[in-house]
Amino acid sequence: MNYSETRNETMLYNRVGRSGLKLPAISLGMWHNFGEGENLANQAALLRTAFDAGITHFDLADNYGGGFAEVNVGNMLKSDFEGHRDELVISTKAGHRMWSGPYGDWGSRKHIMAGIDQSLERLQLDYVDIFYHHRPDPETPMEETAQALADVVRQGKALYVGISNYYGAPSRRMVALLKEFGAPCLLNQLPFNMFDRNAAESGEFQGLVEDGVGAITFSPLAQGLLSARYLHGVPADSRAATEGTCLDRERVSDELLEKVRALNEIARQRGQSLAQMALCWNLDFAPVASVLIGASRPEQLVENTKALENRTFSGEERSLIDSLTAA
Ligand code: NDP
Repeated sequence: MNYSETRNETMLYNRVGRSGLKLPAISLGMWHNFGEGENLANQAALLRTAFDAGITHFDLADNYGGGFAEVNVGNMLKSDFEGHRDELVISTKAGHRMWSGPYGDWGSRKHIMAGIDQSLERLQLDYVDIFYHHRPDPETPMEETAQALADVVRQGKALYVGISNYYGAPSRRMVALLKEFGAPCLLNQLPFNMFDRNAAESGEFQGLVEDGVGAITFSPLAQGLLSARYLHGVPADSRAATEGTCLDRERVSDELLEKVRALNEIARQRGQSLAQMALCWNLDFAPVASVLIGASRPEQLVENTKALENRTFSGEERSLIDSLTAA
């Protein structure tokens, strides 16, 4: 497969916390559109378009598409990305329910160790670059989860470990334990966008900055709400119109659309699309190294990666955005 010679020149690569790793400012996730029965040609086009635009980081989890996302991406890594493994950061996670019985989820050593092995098998890889604990486990001692993650690194099955959906005291403690066990936490993967500011307002971002740990923010487009997707209603092929997703059609209310249209106008005056503005807004928060987007078609990726052409905001633009979206 031939990729653009200049693919790394238009992308921005940010250092993650105080680590040696840089991630593309925009990463691509496979939560949606990579499952069983999804169009394989479209999946391949998404990965190729992303890589061609300098997106060197693909984010997975064991449970995306019930395991099929890892299988499909694993197959594409073998075919379309042969010879490019060292240019790619592949992430996966364990912690959500994957198999029946008491070991099929959460944070026991039993779950973590089986989880990484199953993911590597589906991905047909010897190692992933980042392995995350997907969500805090209220019952398992944190020492046990941290030790298991550190051992995954020690065994060479992951280069770095991260946490996801951790906030406050559990986050600080997990970061400290991972450091103690010799596998420093690379980053925390958190939801964050103009409509969901908890990562900043809860103090989690500040805690990560003080710990020297990075952040990667998921659903930066609020699953598509912060784009032109719903400006004229709910399209039949959109996430909000699809059964079984986490974006309810009812979320697309007249009240929300009024805000989205006003945001769209601010973006237009900046010479950007709303999706582009939403991504830049997100990237402006320390310690965010990368925004983790999803896409259902390659054109969305082409649009979104152009966001980096205008990253700065005036004070007036910021206050306008805040007045429309802050709680
Ligand atoms: P986004 O907020 O980026 O939403 C992506 C969706 O928005 C697309 O699938 C598409 O929806 C729409 N969209 C994207 N670009 C455009 C555009 N330019 N114009 C119009 N519509 C657009 O992120 P996701 O919610 O998909 O999450 C991204 C990733 O974050 C996941 O794949 C996963 O890797 C990670 N994640 C992690 C979680 C965790 O617990 N750690 C939880 C959730 C996500 P449509 O289908 O309507 O076209």
